[in-house]
Amino acid sequence: MLDEMQILKELEYTRTWGSKEELKAAKYIQTTLKKIGIESTLEKFKLNNSELEKVSLEVTKPYKKKYACNFYKLAGNATNLVKDVVFVKDINELRKYDVENKIVLLQGRIRYWKYKELIEAGCKGIVLGDGHLFAEDNDIDTRELREKLQELGKLPIVSCNIKDLYEMASKGVSQIKMTTVQKAFVGSSQNVVAHIKGRSKRHVVLTAHYDSTALSKGSWDNASGSVGLLKLAEHFSKNEPLHNMTFIWCGAEERGLCGSKAYVKKHKKELDKYDLCINLDMIGATIGKFLACVTGEEKMVGYIDYLSSIKGKACHCYQDVYSSDSTPFADNGIPAVSFGQGNPATPIHCCFDTMFLMNKDSFNDDYQFIEEFVSNMVNAKRIPIERTIPDNMKERLDIYLFRKRGK
Ligand SMILES: [Zn+2]
Repeated sequence: MLDEMQILKELEYTRTWGSKEELKAAKYIQTTLKKIGIESTLEKFKLNNSELEKVSLEVTKPYKKKYACNFYKLAGNATNLVKDVVFVKDINELRKYDVENKIVLLQGRIRYWKYKELIEAGCKGIVLGDGHLFAEDNDIDTRELREKLQELGKLPIVSCNIKDLYEMASKGVSQIKMTTVQKAFVGSSQNVVAHIKGRSKRHVVLTAHYDSTALSKGSWDNASGSVGLLKLAEHFSKNEPLHNMTFIWCGAEERGLCGSKAYVKKHKKELDKYDLCINLDMIGATIGKFLACVTGEEKMVGYIDYLSSIKGKACHCYQDVYSSDSTPFADNGIPAVSFGQGNPATPIHCCFDTMFLMNKDSFNDDYQFIEEFVSNMVNAKRIPIERTIPDNMKERLDIYLFRKRGK
């Protein structure tokens, strides 16, 4: 039997998309599968990547001070760009500010519609405050400008620590000098794919991403789901399912679901045979609310609620789009459910996501529920979920994938 805590421990290192460590984790998953008698393939896919050449950030008015900063991958280049600054307190009230020919300072991430608004308003650069105000370290995450945003134009962007952003804002920053130069190259990531043969012609696909963000060891997000998927593979290799099962450990999820997007693109012709996608993203932490997000008909919510009731296991189940590898499948007409866990006290994508969060009993409590659900699905005479995406979920997908603007 696979030892979940041992595997989690062995995966406790940063596995950023496109990195050597991500590849090492993929090979480790393959080796683990081999130990339980399952052959797998490594499916590589290309990813635009870039390397930092230089980056700096300096407040030049009304005081002078240099601040630590990090580049924003695949954003624009600029050398000694000096501009007046607008500090934006809340990204949702962008219209309040005149950003033309200015550098904008704001907190957090920059998403599609706000980025579009900034470009259209003539903004010339962005400084983003990132991280947690009360974290002991001053580490700054490496983020990237997603393809969809690049299409709008590449503004120079740097990230700084949120503590420094507070200082700049409270000291009334009015002018900034920034440099960010990076060299682009075509890199790669990879999915690990394995199959367990069933006795029918139908298929269920199971996904979990194994990459992490740059500052995180990613034990919870999402070594936990990857280990859950390994345990499912082990279980069903010994208990032949009625329906075929395809397992995908996805790379580069944190860069925008790149692994699952690459898979559906490469296997477009085979997607017809998949009836359901089951995704695991963040399970089994010591404390946290277990949840299931259904991108499919309402009936699936009822089904999971029923299982939750008879098991006495709380599972907050709802219909929506989950920001994880289930989404590209749902967007191709395959009903999907993501199992996960939430806890406002334990932030992810930062140094706090380590083995400290994980617990064997809690992991198995979540895992057993998932195994039972998967078992019911892959052994049902006919998978009891309509192979359709209802209109309300189609609309949520359009909004999530920036085809339509939400409220
Ligand atoms: Zn995740």
